Amino acid sequence: MDVIIIGAGAAGLMAANHLSGAGLKVCVLEARDRLGGRINTFSDPYSDGLEGGAEFVHGNLEVTLQLLKEAGIEKQELTGEMWQVVDGKWSQESEFFEYAEMVIEKLKLVKDDISIETFIDIYFADEEFEPLRKSLTSYVEGYYSGEISKTSAKSFLEEWMSEDHQQYRPVGGYGKMIEYLAGLCNRRGMVVQLSTVVKEIRGAKGHVEITDEVGNTYTSQRVIITIPLGVWTAEENAKGAICYSPALTAKMESSKQL
Ligand SMILES: Cc1cc2nc3c(=O)[nH]c(=O)nc-3n(C[C@H](O)[C@H](O)[C@H](O)COP(=O)(O)OP(=O)(O)OC[C@H]3O[C@@H](n4cnc5c(N)ncnc54)[C@H](O)[C@@H]3O)c2cc1C
Repeated sequence: MDVIIIGAGAAGLMAANHLSGAGLKVCVLEARDRLGGRINTFSDPYSDGLEGGAEFVHGNLEVTLQLLKEAGIEKQELTGEMWQVVDGKWSQESEFFEYAEMVIEKLKLVKDDISIETFIDIYFADEEFEPLRKSLTSYVEGYYSGEISKTSAKSFLEEWMSEDHQQYRPVGGYGKMIEYLAGLCNRRGMVVQLSTVVKEIRGAKGHVEITDEVGNTYTSQRVIITIPLGVWTAEENAKGAICYSPALTAKMESSKQL
């Protein structure tokens, strides 16, 4: 095998697409019993695919839109309302966007950078702002994966203002894109092993040995690791962690700062 790719999410399958397209022999090892990783489209009789993971194309993203076009998957601009159901009760979601203008106005007043947490304490402490505090917090934590005590108010404003607000959904769901990529790679001879949890990677340039949790060993010239950052930086004895030999100390130290 020329290359083993660990993880069959979007990153792993895109890597497989490029490498198999260049004529290399590729094997993908995936812990779950399905492809797609954090893309997980369920078929649903009432909609064009129900998303358990990624749903939107956030802006005019060249690579994603090109891939959809190549795959013949239509895109649909976002319209509609947001609703949520809690304990069987439906309500229109109180969205951060409702307060966006007010928040932006106040963010522009911030001279020396502060965290979003401090920003909220300074500008939105009154009781009347409780819904705003909640939705701003869940927006920052949910969408940017940032703890509000560590997220910079100035960077948040910059990111938010620069975002392309034209958004799409792939018709039929992102799962169609995964199917397309896997189909292409399969036709070029890609080997995929599902339900294969990698536990150890040993090697040097040109020869890599990989062991899974039941002791099977796989060898290749190179390895590409596309696991989530949290798994990549997990301590060696943590559940799900992969053991690297030799240790990748410098890479781990920089990854932990991401
Ligand atoms: C609920 C949710 C909603 C989202 N919404 C959007 C959205 O609307 N738009 C958007 O652009 N992005 C969205 N995202 C983010 C997007 O889904 C991810 O950025 C993207 O799918 C990540 O792809 P990846 O290949 O890097 O990682 P993953 O998809 O996580 O793939 C990594 C793979 O590695 C496998 N793996 C892990 N450990 C091992 C191991 N030891 N051995 C073998 N395999 C292993 C995992 O099982 C997984 O399949 C969302 C994410 C979530 C969770």
